[in-house]
Amino acid sequence: MMHLQNEAAMLALGGKLAQQVQAPMVIFLRGDLGAGKTTLVRGFLQALGYQARVKSPSFTIVEPYELADQQLFHFDFYRLNDIEELELIGWRDYFTQQAICFIEWPEKAADLLPVPDLICDIHILGQQRQIELHSPSGRAQGIIASL
Ligand code: ADP
Ligand code: MG
Repeated sequence: MMHLQNEAAMLALGGKLAQQVQAPMVIFLRGDLGAGKTTLVRGFLQALGYQARVKSPSFTIVEPYELADQQLFHFDFYRLNDIEELELIGWRDYFTQQAICFIEWPEKAADLLPVPDLICDIHILGQQRQIELHSPSGRAQGIIASL
């Protein structure tokens, strides 16, 4: 359980993750609207030198980013009405050995998704946030321990 005082702390956590996360990695981001899920991904990308605006993919479902030697796919399933829409975007093709996948609202995809390497559960406390990290696959256990 970690306590994040403000948005800057959430961006910094994204930056710390960026130093350690290597593809393949599947990261679930859970929490209400405004919890800071997109902010965490923004911190991750900015720490890797990505300068342009990091858009919320809630309308496009997925936003791709090319990193130095791997790819990052930022998914947001908030507006997903039917898991058929996931088949339409060919979601399986994104989960490769070279991909880091961040997924907002993974619960909307039912049990279609792979077992996540990292789950971030974010709770809103006014301007502050509480975040709980778990590694169902075990692959992010070391990362969690190092934060
Ligand atoms: P989500 O993707 O979970 O819906 P966003 O990251 O898009 O949330 O938005 C989070 C909003 O909350 C932003 O406007 C951000 O400035 C604000 N905010 C305030 N405090 C925090 C905090 N401690 N961590 C993250 N975001 C915060
Ligand atoms: Mg979002």
